[in-house]
Amino acid sequence: MKILVFVEQRDNKLKKSAFEALAAARKLAGSASQVAALLVGGSVEGLAGELKNYGADTVYVVNNAAFDKYNVMAYAAAAEQAIKTFAPKLVLGIASPMGRDIFPRLAARFDAGLATDLIEIKANGDFITGLKPMYSGKVFAELALQNTELQFATLRPNVFKGETSGDGAANVSKLDVAAPASPLQTVEIRKGKSEKVDLTEATLIISGGRALGSADAFKILHEAADVIGATVGASRAAVDAGYAAHDMQVGQTGKTVNPTLYIAAGISGSIQHMAGMRSSKVIVAINTDPEAPIFKIANYGIIGDLFQVVPAMTKAFKELKG
Ligand code: FAD
Repeated sequence: MKILVFVEQRDNKLKKSAFEALAAARKLAGSASQVAALLVGGSVEGLAGELKNYGADTVYVVNNAAFDKYNVMAYAAAAEQAIKTFAPKLVLGIASPMGRDIFPRLAARFDAGLATDLIEIKANGDFITGLKPMYSGKVFAELALQNTELQFATLRPNVFKGETSGDGAANVSKLDVAAPASPLQTVEIRKGKSEKVDLTEATLIISGGRALGSADAFKILHEAADVIGATVGASRAAVDAGYAAHDMQVGQTGKTVNPTLYIAAGISGSIQHMAGMRSSKVIVAINTDPEAPIFKIANYGIIGDLFQVVPAMTKAFKELKG
């Protein structure tokens, strides 16, 4: 079963998710089948070698100034050509904003099936089966795609491990694709204000909830985060109340994160919040209410007032670092 992986890059740097999707494809294909990666951008040729250790036998590169800024019409044209060239049975990507944009378009273009946001994917005889959490992880749907025909699937970010396999040879094959004439143009890409590591890629996260009470109070989380190099996140209640920016929201309708350490300060632990952070390796919850649901999934629980606990943590972080 040949698998083509659509790998994502930003500013000509590979996203962590590129390695996750590629490593998952390699595992799924086994050593007998071929895995190819598709890399599209304005100046991405130098990135192809990085994909070798994650199991890519071939890296198709579309490297052209016209592809510098993401445009779904242009990137779909590049993917279409790679699919026609490599003839895979499965095209795999990530359920990121980009993946959610381009994969349905590609599946429609090839009149093929699409399974999205999978947290598990397996080869099962003539089928590829995948597990998809629904209703914030309350139920899991098992989806089956027949692997005798071209199919598409996206994986939930931060769930699969971007492990090196060393199996790939990574022959680089340049594809000459012209960006199609399109009524849709990408004029400008405006980045979020934060200069910190994006939540989806962060290994340390400190998130605040409604209990912070104001945007100003979030300063205590930023102070703690600055000492250990963490990224600050928020619950939806904090975002809706205007205490935190929208791109800081963790959860079902925010970002899915998978850090080594997730500190939840003044967050109750709603199903929707936990849907985005429950796979964090170590969870520390700070809450005045000993019955708060977040304590059910926390590795360490601190029953206390975050306005005392967080500054004390910051002090301890500084002492440890100093
Ligand atoms: P609360 O539930 O109000 O919890 C505040 C907590 O702070 C309480 O547990 C309280 O005991 C504690 N506390 C109070 N004072 C202190 C103090 N001084 N020190 C320490 N602890 C204190 N939510 C998300 O987070 N992400 C999502 O993506 C998301 N998507 C949603 C999608 C849908 C369709 C719906 C319906 C809801 C969604 N929600 C989401 C909202 C979610 O249901 C909750 O309302 C929200 O997560 C609650 O945020 P919170 O924990 O900050 O606030």
